[in-house]
Amino acid sequence: SALVELRDVWVEYGDKIVLERVSLQLAEGGFVAVVGPSGAGKSTFLRLILGQEAPTRGKVLLGGTPMRAECGPDRGVVFQRYSVFPHLTALQNVLFGIECAGAPLIARLFGARRREARDTAAAMLAAVGLEHSLHVYPAQMSGGMQQRLAIAQALVKHPRVLLLDEPFGALDPGIRLDMHALITRLWQEHGLTILMVTHDIGEAFKLGTRVLAFDKRRHDPHAPHRYGATVT
Ligand code: ADP
Ligand code: ADP
Repeated sequence: SALVELRDVWVEYGDKIVLERVSLQLAEGGFVAVVGPSGAGKSTFLRLILGQEAPTRGKVLLGGTPMRAECGPDRGVVFQRYSVFPHLTALQNVLFGIECAGAPLIARLFGARRREARDTAAAMLAAVGLEHSLHVYPAQMSGGMQQRLAIAQALVKHPRVLLLDEPFGALDPGIRLDMHALITRLWQEHGLTILMVTHDIGEAFKLGTRVLAFDKRRHDPHAPHRYGATVT
């Protein structure tokens, strides 16, 4: 059965329809690329799956149960920029990823549990090639390193779904290729399900096992709703 399922989902803001009648099933282990013009509803779609937003109508299910709010252990997210905390070192950022995934209000870990968490965080940083940057702050890192850090923070809690919102859009082409290799390896090694929004069609077809195209559809200009996304 599907890991993520949308059943007849609508998202409306006032009289503006952003998502209209979207039904889809995403299989576990897939790498789904989401493309479409600006304003087509791609970020809204990710927010639904993060549980940051509820549909106006319809259902959003994760593993067959209704989506809950974010910061659960089952979803990790990386944005184009600012996914990590500037006042925390690389290690502290990834530790935050672990603590956030724990039981509510266990804000800090102590003693043996903290040492264990530190080892886990350091291993995750090594997995993204940041083993020599544990105590470095994001401001001292290149864009590519910051995105590696963001990926480590998102993955350290072993989420079932990794959501990537234009994760490589701000990087130089050469660095982007390195990141493609990294994310493909992590996807395979961790048996992840990935949902990635991208403006780069080449990237979508290179990385995705499935490509979802969001379309900003124009309705009759005299009708009350002029926009609505359809998914193909
Ligand atoms: P992108 O197309 O790069 O994903 P955004 O999603 O940031 O851009 O924004 C697209 C449009 O959505 C912008 O015109 C912005 O003003 C509008 N928008 C985004 N979030 C909100 C919001 N919370 N309330 C009203 N409008 C919003
Ligand atoms: P995309 O990510 O594809 O650029 P978005 O999901 O950001 O598209 O936005 C889709 C449409 O929804 C846009 O027209 C945007 O202005 C609108 N929108 C997004 N969030 C809000 C909001 N909170 N309030 C009102 N309009 C919004």
